[in-house]
Amino acid sequence: MSNTAPDIPAKEQSQFRVTGEIPIPVLINWLSIAAVPLLAFFAWRSLAQGDQLTPALLTLFATLLAANTLNYALFRHKTFHRRCFITLITTLFTYLAVHAVEGGFAIIWLFAYPPIVFYISEARVGIATCLMGFAGVALLFSPLAEQLLNLPYSASFRLTMTAALAFEMITCYILDRSRRRSKLGLLALAAKFEYAAKHDALTGLANRREALVQLDAEYERYLRNGRPFAVLLADIDLFKSINDSYGHHVGDDIIVLVARSLRDQCRKVDTIARWGGEEYLILLPETAADEAVHIANRIRKAIAEKSVMVGEKSVYCTASIGIASIRGSESVDKLLQRSDEALYRSKTLGRNRVCAHQNDASD
Ligand code: GH3
Ligand code: MG
Ligand code: MG
Repeated sequence: MSNTAPDIPAKEQSQFRVTGEIPIPVLINWLSIAAVPLLAFFAWRSLAQGDQLTPALLTLFATLLAANTLNYALFRHKTFHRRCFITLITTLFTYLAVHAVEGGFAIIWLFAYPPIVFYISEARVGIATCLMGFAGVALLFSPLAEQLLNLPYSASFRLTMTAALAFEMITCYILDRSRRRSKLGLLALAAKFEYAAKHDALTGLANRREALVQLDAEYERYLRNGRPFAVLLADIDLFKSINDSYGHHVGDDIIVLVARSLRDQCRKVDTIARWGGEEYLILLPETAADEAVHIANRIRKAIAEKSVMVGEKSVYCTASIGIASIRGSESVDKLLQRSDEALYRSKTLGRNRVCAHQNDASD
């Protein structure tokens, strides 16, 4: 739980997934599985046409694609899975084009390449592989290749294929960029909503609901490892009179000021929450009762030292703090009730003081 100000901490931004999007390994696996019968079919056709090399190579590609899928199923190595797949389809499409499989018509499979690489790779990898693919096609259709390879591609086929491929690559790039931007926008929005659901808008501290979530989590840890934790309940003294004397907006400034003091005095592992109007809850993990008293006194002094300027005047406030430390198998509710009792005692003893619950430690 972060206690930093309202800008969204990085670690809270990465918790979301866009549902409905096909995960890359799943897409690769489905494409690989679909490719196996297709490759077998064209291997069989090439064999019937008396070609010896193509059936052997297409069978090899089918086997390697299946092996890549199996390897991922066993070891879950995403990057290796993706790189192998891109290498295999790049080699396959190059062979189909250079060897002019199916009388040269197999080169049309190249149109499947741009959408696949843009989806499964980062944008820059998609751009680089498409540019290299396009350069390869341009080279294949060049007069030099014509002299060397005796390919069956007619001049109008070359022209149409080159123009259509360039058009498709640019379209895929634009669509992919738009998809990525929409996804980022959605993730940012989701992070914003989650942040708003967990934090108090005025102070940026955790809200009551989030504090309860953190309390439950800490309680579970306590039950497992036995390390005690403490709860401080802090309440600004005579806050109503601040509102009455200086107005609500000054009251709000005081609430923010106290929140800042709490942030300054607490550790990163502590959870600081706005528990109610001018009440705060601080959860101190792995903290014994006497240490909690020490921290609470430090907090109380820090609050009393700071002021809000109203015109020429400095407005100070104090806070009373009640402490309860977890004991035995008592519930979180019971712990909160005891911290409330300790706070009540601080108030009745004269305010601006710290009281630990009598069953935990001396005042
Ligand atoms: P005590 O020392 O016993 O705690 O006295 P108190 O005046 O602080 O306590 P009381 O419960 O009588 O008054 C709390 C006041 O806090 C009443 C309420 O209007 C005010 N308050 C609650 N939330 C906010 C807020 O967000 N902003 C402002 N400005 N005031 C608030
Ligand atoms: Mg109060
Ligand atoms: Mg109060």
